[in-house]
Amino acid sequence: MIALAKSKPEPGLWKVDAPIPELGPDDVLIKINKTGICGTDIHIWDWDAWASATVPVPIITGHEFAGEVVDMGRNVSGLKLGQRCSGEGHLIGTESRQSRSGKFHLDPGTRGIGVNVQGAFAQYLRLPAFNVVPLPDDIPDEIGAILDPLGNAVHTALSFPLLGEDVLITGAGPIGIMAAAVARHAGARNVVLTDVNTYRLDLAAKVVPNLRCVNVAKEDLHDVVHELGLKEGFDIGLEMSGNQAALDQMVEALVMGGKIALLGIPPGQSPVDWSRIVFKAITIKGVYGREMFETWYKMIAMLQYGLDVSRVITHRYDIADFREGFEQMKSGRSGKVVLNWT
Ligand code: NAD
Ligand code: ZN
Repeated sequence: MIALAKSKPEPGLWKVDAPIPELGPDDVLIKINKTGICGTDIHIWDWDAWASATVPVPIITGHEFAGEVVDMGRNVSGLKLGQRCSGEGHLIGTESRQSRSGKFHLDPGTRGIGVNVQGAFAQYLRLPAFNVVPLPDDIPDEIGAILDPLGNAVHTALSFPLLGEDVLITGAGPIGIMAAAVARHAGARNVVLTDVNTYRLDLAAKVVPNLRCVNVAKEDLHDVVHELGLKEGFDIGLEMSGNQAALDQMVEALVMGGKIALLGIPPGQSPVDWSRIVFKAITIKGVYGREMFETWYKMIAMLQYGLDVSRVITHRYDIADFREGFEQMKSGRSGKVVLNWT
Protein backbone atom coordinates (compact mmCIF):
# COMPACT_ATOMS: atom_id res chain seq x y z
CA MET A 1 0.00 0.00 0.00
CA ILE A 2 0.99 3.63 -0.40
CA ALA A 3 1.81 5.50 2.82
CA LEU A 4 3.45 8.74 3.98
CA ALA A 5 6.29 7.90 6.31
CA LYS A 6 9.01 9.52 8.33
CA SER A 7 11.67 7.28 6.81
CA LYS A 8 14.77 9.21 7.89
CA PRO A 9 15.52 11.34 10.98
CA GLU A 10 15.49 14.62 9.05
CA PRO A 11 12.89 17.13 7.82
CA GLY A 12 10.32 15.79 5.33
CA LEU A 13 7.88 12.94 4.80
CA TRP A 14 8.26 10.40 2.06
CA LYS A 15 5.80 8.43 0.00
CA VAL A 16 6.61 4.76 0.57
CA ASP A 17 5.33 1.33 -0.37
CA ALA A 18 4.46 -0.46 2.90
CA PRO A 19 2.84 -3.83 3.68
CA ILE A 20 -0.87 -3.81 4.53
CA PRO A 21 -0.96 -4.16 8.36
CA GLU A 22 -1.77 -7.58 9.82
CA LEU A 23 -4.65 -7.74 12.25
CA GLY A 24 -4.70 -9.05 15.81
CA PRO A 25 -7.91 -10.67 17.06
CA ASP A 26 -9.32 -7.38 18.44
CA ASP A 27 -8.34 -5.15 15.51
CA VAL A 28 -10.08 -3.87 12.40
CA LEU A 29 -8.56 -2.88 9.08
CA ILE A 30 -9.75 0.50 7.83
CA LYS A 31 -9.45 1.56 4.20
CA ILE A 32 -8.58 5.24 4.42
CA ASN A 33 -10.60 7.70 2.32
CA LYS A 34 -9.59 11.12 3.73
CA THR A 35 -7.03 12.36 6.22
CA GLY A 36 -6.48 15.73 7.87
CA ILE A 37 -3.07 17.36 8.28
CA CYS A 38 -2.52 18.33 11.91
CA GLY A 39 -0.06 20.75 13.53
CA THR A 40 1.51 17.62 15.04
CA ASP A 41 2.23 16.33 11.53
CA ILE A 42 4.01 19.61 10.77
CA HIS A 43 6.21 19.15 13.87
CA ILE A 44 7.02 15.64 12.61
CA TRP A 45 7.68 16.92 9.09
CA ASP A 46 10.00 19.65 10.45
CA TRP A 47 11.69 17.13 12.78
CA ASP A 48 11.83 19.64 15.63
CA ALA A 49 13.15 18.89 19.14
CA TRP A 50 9.82 17.39 20.30
CA ALA A 51 9.47 15.16 17.22
CA SER A 52 13.04 13.88 17.23
CA ALA A 53 12.74 13.03 20.94
CA THR A 54 9.34 11.34 20.57
CA VAL A 55 8.79 9.76 17.18
CA PRO A 56 10.51 6.46 16.22
CA VAL A 57 11.90 6.13 12.68
CA PRO A 58 10.67 4.69 10.39
CA ILE A 59 6.97 5.30 11.08
CA ILE A 60 3.84 5.94 9.03
CA THR A 61 2.53 9.27 10.27
CA GLY A 62 -0.99 10.80 10.47
CA HIS A 63 -3.83 10.41 12.97
CA GLU A 64 -6.83 12.33 11.56
CA PHE A 65 -8.83 10.05 9.26
CA ALA A 66 -12.09 8.74 7.87
CA GLY A 67 -12.54 5.50 5.99
CA GLU A 68 -14.39 2.22 6.03
CA VAL A 69 -14.00 -1.13 7.76
CA VAL A 70 -12.71 -3.75 5.29
CA ASP A 71 -11.53 -6.56 7.60
CA MET A 72 -11.94 -7.57 11.23
CA GLY A 73 -10.15 -9.78 13.76
CA ARG A 74 -11.96 -12.84 15.06
CA ASN A 75 -13.02 -11.29 18.41
CA VAL A 76 -14.57 -8.18 16.86
CA SER A 77 -18.32 -7.85 17.10
CA GLY A 78 -20.75 -4.98 16.62
CA LEU A 79 -19.12 -3.67 13.44
CA LYS A 80 -19.86 -4.56 9.83
CA LEU A 81 -17.67 -4.68 6.74
CA GLY A 82 -18.24 -1.48 4.78
CA GLN A 83 -19.06 0.53 7.93
CA ARG A 84 -17.88 4.11 7.43
CA CYS A 85 -15.88 5.30 10.40
CA SER A 86 -13.41 7.62 12.01
CA GLY A 87 -11.70 6.72 15.26
CA GLU A 88 -9.80 7.72 18.34
CA GLY A 89 -6.09 7.75 17.59
CA HIS A 90 -5.03 7.35 21.21
CA LEU A 91 -4.40 3.68 21.97
CA ILE A 92 -4.88 2.99 25.66
CA GLY A 93 -4.13 0.22 28.11
CA THR A 94 -6.60 -1.18 30.61
CA GLU A 95 -4.33 -1.55 33.63
CA SER A 96 -4.03 2.00 34.95
CA ARG A 97 -6.29 3.30 37.69
CA GLN A 98 -7.64 5.93 35.27
CA SER A 99 -8.60 3.35 32.64
CA ARG A 100 -10.09 1.03 35.22
CA SER A 101 -12.29 3.89 36.45
CA GLY A 102 -13.46 4.58 32.89
CA LYS A 103 -11.35 7.70 32.31
CA PHE A 104 -9.70 6.19 29.25
CA HIS A 105 -8.42 9.50 27.90
CA LEU A 106 -6.34 9.93 31.08
CA ASP A 107 -4.49 6.62 30.77
CA PRO A 108 -0.82 7.53 31.35
CA GLY A 109 0.36 4.79 28.99
CA THR A 110 -1.48 6.18 25.94
CA ARG A 111 0.27 5.75 22.57
CA GLY A 112 -0.73 7.79 19.54
CA ILE A 113 -1.14 6.48 16.02
CA GLY A 114 1.13 8.36 13.65
CA VAL A 115 3.28 9.49 16.60
CA ASN A 116 4.30 6.38 18.56
CA VAL A 117 2.82 3.60 16.38
CA GLN A 118 1.96 3.23 12.66
CA GLY A 119 -0.50 5.91 11.57
CA ALA A 120 -3.28 6.82 9.20
CA PHE A 121 -1.43 8.44 6.28
CA ALA A 122 -1.78 5.17 4.39
CA GLN A 123 -4.23 3.31 2.24
CA TYR A 124 -4.97 1.01 5.19
CA LEU A 125 -4.87 1.51 8.96
CA ARG A 126 -4.99 -1.13 11.67
CA LEU A 127 -6.94 0.07 14.71
CA PRO A 128 -8.31 -1.69 17.80
CA ALA A 129 -12.07 -2.13 17.27
CA PHE A 130 -12.51 -0.36 20.63
CA ASN A 131 -11.20 2.86 19.03
CA VAL A 132 -13.48 2.81 15.99
CA VAL A 133 -16.20 5.46 15.86
CA PRO A 134 -18.88 4.70 13.23
CA LEU A 135 -19.94 7.67 11.09
CA PRO A 136 -23.61 8.34 10.46
CA ASP A 137 -24.62 8.75 6.79
CA ASP A 138 -25.12 12.50 7.16
CA ILE A 139 -21.49 13.13 8.20
CA PRO A 140 -19.27 13.09 5.09
CA ASP A 141 -15.76 11.61 5.06
CA GLU A 142 -14.02 14.96 4.99
CA ILE A 143 -15.76 15.97 8.22
CA GLY A 144 -14.97 12.50 9.58
CA ALA A 145 -11.32 13.30 8.85
CA ILE A 146 -11.36 16.38 11.12
CA LEU A 147 -13.23 14.88 14.08
CA ASP A 148 -9.95 14.48 15.96
CA PRO A 149 -9.25 18.25 16.13
CA LEU A 150 -12.96 19.05 16.39
CA GLY A 151 -12.86 16.74 19.42
CA ASN A 152 -10.06 18.85 20.94
CA ALA A 153 -12.22 21.93 20.37
CA VAL A 154 -15.35 20.31 21.82
CA HIS A 155 -13.59 18.82 24.84
CA THR A 156 -11.97 22.19 25.63
CA ALA A 157 -15.03 24.33 24.94
CA LEU A 158 -17.31 22.15 27.05
CA SER A 159 -14.90 22.13 30.01
CA PHE A 160 -17.12 24.66 31.75
CA PRO A 161 -20.85 25.46 31.27
CA LEU A 162 -21.06 28.05 28.47
CA LEU A 163 -24.73 28.91 28.38
CA GLY A 164 -25.19 32.67 28.60
CA GLU A 165 -21.50 33.21 29.35
CA ASP A 166 -19.05 35.62 27.73
CA VAL A 167 -16.24 33.59 26.20
CA LEU A 168 -12.75 34.64 25.08
CA ILE A 169 -10.83 32.31 22.78
CA THR A 170 -7.17 33.03 22.01
CA GLY A 171 -5.78 31.57 18.76
CA ALA A 172 -7.79 31.30 15.53
CA GLY A 173 -6.09 28.15 14.27
CA PRO A 174 -8.44 25.43 13.07
CA ILE A 175 -9.08 24.30 16.65
CA GLY A 176 -9.74 27.82 17.98
CA ILE A 177 -12.15 28.51 15.11
CA MET A 178 -14.01 25.25 15.73
CA ALA A 179 -14.10 25.98 19.48
CA ALA A 180 -15.74 29.33 18.66
CA ALA A 181 -18.34 27.50 16.57
CA VAL A 182 -18.99 25.10 19.45
CA ALA A 183 -19.28 27.95 21.98
CA ARG A 184 -21.84 29.64 19.70
CA HIS A 185 -23.73 26.36 19.26
CA ALA A 186 -23.69 25.68 23.01
CA GLY A 187 -25.38 29.00 23.80
CA ALA A 188 -22.60 31.33 24.89
CA ARG A 189 -23.50 35.05 24.89
CA ASN A 190 -20.51 36.97 23.49
CA VAL A 191 -17.84 34.89 21.76
CA VAL A 192 -14.60 36.74 21.04
CA LEU A 193 -11.72 35.14 19.12
CA THR A 194 -8.24 36.67 18.96
CA ASP A 195 -5.27 36.10 16.69
CA VAL A 196 -2.52 38.10 14.98
CA ASN A 197 -3.11 36.43 11.60
CA THR A 198 -5.60 38.31 9.41
CA TYR A 199 -6.23 35.37 7.06
CA ARG A 200 -7.33 33.21 9.96
CA LEU A 201 -9.52 35.86 11.57
CA ASP A 202 -11.24 36.43 8.21
CA LEU A 203 -11.76 32.69 7.89
CA ALA A 204 -13.19 32.49 11.42
CA ALA A 205 -15.72 35.19 10.58
CA LYS A 206 -16.89 33.07 7.63
CA VAL A 207 -17.15 29.85 9.67
CA VAL A 208 -18.80 31.17 12.83
CA PRO A 209 -21.88 33.42 12.92
CA ASN A 210 -21.98 36.36 15.36
CA LEU A 211 -18.34 36.09 16.27
CA ARG A 212 -16.29 39.12 17.30
CA CYS A 213 -12.83 38.63 15.80
CA VAL A 214 -10.00 40.69 17.24
CA ASN A 215 -6.56 41.16 15.74
CA VAL A 216 -4.62 41.83 18.93
CA ALA A 217 -1.69 43.19 16.93
CA LYS A 218 -3.94 46.06 15.82
CA GLU A 219 -6.80 46.30 18.31
CA ASP A 220 -6.87 46.64 22.09
CA LEU A 221 -8.85 43.89 23.82
CA HIS A 222 -9.87 46.35 26.57
CA ASP A 223 -11.68 48.42 23.93
CA VAL A 224 -13.56 45.31 22.80
CA VAL A 225 -14.57 44.55 26.39
CA HIS A 226 -16.04 48.08 26.62
CA GLU A 227 -17.63 47.91 23.17
CA LEU A 228 -19.46 44.71 24.15
CA GLY A 229 -20.57 46.20 27.46
CA LEU A 230 -18.84 43.53 29.51
CA LYS A 231 -18.64 45.16 32.91
CA GLU A 232 -15.86 43.09 34.40
CA GLY A 233 -14.56 40.95 31.56
CA PHE A 234 -15.01 37.44 30.20
CA ASP A 235 -16.39 34.55 32.25
CA ILE A 236 -14.51 31.82 30.42
CA GLY A 237 -11.24 31.65 28.48
CA LEU A 238 -10.22 28.94 26.02
CA GLU A 239 -6.49 29.18 25.27
CA MET A 240 -5.79 27.75 21.82
CA SER A 241 -2.63 29.52 20.66
CA GLY A 242 0.13 28.20 22.92
CA ASN A 243 1.34 31.80 22.99
CA GLN A 244 2.50 33.35 26.27
CA ALA A 245 1.22 36.84 25.44
CA ALA A 246 -2.22 35.42 24.65
CA LEU A 247 -2.41 33.63 27.99
CA ASP A 248 -1.34 36.76 29.89
CA GLN A 249 -3.94 38.76 28.01
CA MET A 250 -6.58 36.17 28.84
CA VAL A 251 -5.83 36.25 32.58
CA GLU A 252 -6.09 40.05 32.43
CA ALA A 253 -9.40 40.01 30.54
CA LEU A 254 -11.24 37.51 32.80
CA VAL A 255 -13.71 38.33 35.57
CA MET A 256 -12.91 37.54 39.20
CA GLY A 257 -13.52 33.81 39.55
CA GLY A 258 -13.13 33.27 35.79
CA LYS A 259 -12.25 29.89 34.33
CA ILE A 260 -9.60 28.94 31.78
CA ALA A 261 -9.30 25.74 29.75
CA LEU A 262 -5.78 25.42 28.33
CA LEU A 263 -5.33 23.41 25.12
CA GLY A 264 -2.54 25.39 23.44
CA ILE A 265 0.94 23.96 23.98
CA PRO A 266 3.63 26.57 24.69
CA PRO A 267 6.89 25.88 22.84
CA GLY A 268 8.97 25.80 26.04
CA GLN A 269 8.73 26.79 29.69
CA SER A 270 6.13 29.49 30.01
CA PRO A 271 6.22 31.79 33.04
CA VAL A 272 2.91 32.47 34.82
CA ASP A 273 2.10 35.33 37.19
CA TRP A 274 0.64 33.03 39.85
CA SER A 275 -0.31 35.77 42.31
CA ARG A 276 -2.53 37.23 39.57
CA ILE A 277 -4.24 33.82 39.24
CA VAL A 278 -4.64 33.57 43.04
CA PHE A 279 -6.00 37.08 43.58
CA LYS A 280 -8.40 36.76 40.68
CA ALA A 281 -9.50 33.32 42.03
CA ILE A 282 -9.11 31.81 38.58
CA THR A 283 -9.67 28.11 37.87
CA ILE A 284 -7.32 26.57 35.26
CA LYS A 285 -7.92 23.24 33.59
CA GLY A 286 -5.34 21.55 31.35
CA VAL A 287 -6.91 19.71 28.43
CA TYR A 288 -5.36 16.76 26.65
CA GLY A 289 -6.95 15.02 23.67
CA ARG A 290 -10.61 14.15 23.79
CA GLU A 291 -12.77 12.25 26.26
CA MET A 292 -13.12 8.67 25.20
CA PHE A 293 -15.78 8.47 24.08
CA GLU A 294 -18.05 11.14 25.51
CA THR A 295 -16.57 13.88 23.30
CA TRP A 296 -17.21 11.73 20.20
CA TYR A 297 -20.88 11.24 21.09
CA LYS A 298 -21.32 14.94 21.81
CA MET A 299 -19.62 16.22 18.65
CA ILE A 300 -21.46 13.84 16.35
CA ALA A 301 -24.75 14.86 17.97
CA MET A 302 -23.92 18.55 17.54
CA LEU A 303 -22.93 18.04 13.89
CA GLN A 304 -26.23 16.28 13.25
CA TYR A 305 -28.20 19.05 14.94
CA GLY A 306 -26.87 22.32 13.57
CA LEU A 307 -23.15 22.66 14.26
CA ASP A 308 -21.45 23.41 10.92
CA VAL A 309 -17.65 23.50 10.78
CA SER A 310 -17.35 22.48 7.12
CA ARG A 311 -15.93 25.85 6.02
CA VAL A 312 -12.91 25.40 8.26
CA ILE A 313 -11.65 23.01 5.56
CA THR A 314 -10.02 25.40 3.11
CA HIS A 315 -7.79 23.15 0.99
CA ARG A 316 -8.07 19.65 -0.47
CA TYR A 317 -5.29 17.69 -2.23
CA ASP A 318 -4.92 14.25 -3.72
CA ILE A 319 -2.29 12.21 -1.98
CA ALA A 320 0.02 12.59 -5.00
CA ASP A 321 0.17 16.31 -4.13
CA PHE A 322 0.77 15.89 -0.39
CA ARG A 323 3.77 18.23 -0.47
CA GLU A 324 1.57 21.13 -1.56
CA GLY A 325 -0.83 20.30 1.27
CA PHE A 326 1.94 20.53 3.83
CA GLU A 327 3.28 23.74 2.27
CA GLN A 328 -0.20 25.26 2.48
CA MET A 329 -0.50 24.32 6.17
CA LYS A 330 2.90 25.82 6.92
CA SER A 331 2.05 29.08 5.14
CA GLY A 332 -0.45 30.10 7.85
CA ARG A 333 -2.93 30.80 5.04
CA SER A 334 -5.20 27.82 5.57
CA GLY A 335 -7.77 26.31 7.85
CA LYS A 336 -7.82 22.51 7.79
CA VAL A 337 -6.09 20.81 4.86
CA VAL A 338 -7.57 17.45 3.84
CA LEU A 339 -5.78 14.77 1.77
CA ASN A 340 -7.81 12.47 -0.48
CA TRP A 341 -6.69 8.82 -0.61
CA THR A 342 -9.36 7.39 -2.92
P1 NAD B 1 -2.36 26.62 15.15
O1 NAD B 1 -0.90 26.72 15.41
O2 NAD B 1 -2.85 26.37 13.79
O3 NAD B 1 -3.09 27.93 15.70
C1 NAD B 1 -2.59 28.76 16.72
C2 NAD B 1 -2.96 30.17 16.37
O4 NAD B 1 -2.56 31.03 17.47
C3 NAD B 1 -2.29 30.72 15.09
O5 NAD B 1 -3.28 31.11 14.14
C4 NAD B 1 -1.46 31.89 15.61
O6 NAD B 1 -1.39 32.96 14.66
C5 NAD B 1 -2.25 32.27 16.87
N1 NAD B 1 -1.53 33.18 17.77
C6 NAD B 1 -0.20 33.41 17.86
N2 NAD B 1 0.05 34.39 18.74
C7 NAD B 1 -1.14 34.80 19.23
C8 NAD B 1 -1.54 35.78 20.18
N3 NAD B 1 -0.65 36.54 20.82
N4 NAD B 1 -2.86 35.94 20.43
C9 NAD B 1 -3.77 35.16 19.79
N5 NAD B 1 -3.45 34.21 18.88
C10 NAD B 1 -2.16 34.03 18.60
O7 NAD B 1 -2.87 25.48 16.15
P2 NAD B 1 -4.17 24.51 16.16
O8 NAD B 1 -3.90 23.32 15.31
O9 NAD B 1 -5.43 25.29 15.94
O10 NAD B 1 -4.06 24.04 17.67
C11 NAD B 1 -4.21 24.99 18.72
C12 NAD B 1 -3.25 24.74 19.86
O11 NAD B 1 -3.62 23.53 20.54
C13 NAD B 1 -1.79 24.53 19.45
O12 NAD B 1 -0.95 25.12 20.44
C14 NAD B 1 -1.62 23.02 19.47
O13 NAD B 1 -0.29 22.62 19.70
C15 NAD B 1 -2.50 22.66 20.63
N6 NAD B 1 -3.06 21.29 20.65
C16 NAD B 1 -3.17 20.72 21.87
C17 NAD B 1 -3.75 19.46 21.98
C18 NAD B 1 -3.91 18.86 23.34
O14 NAD B 1 -4.28 17.69 23.43
N7 NAD B 1 -3.66 19.62 24.40
C19 NAD B 1 -4.24 18.80 20.85
C20 NAD B 1 -4.14 19.44 19.61
C21 NAD B 1 -3.55 20.70 19.51
ZN1 ZN C 1 -4.51 16.18 15.18
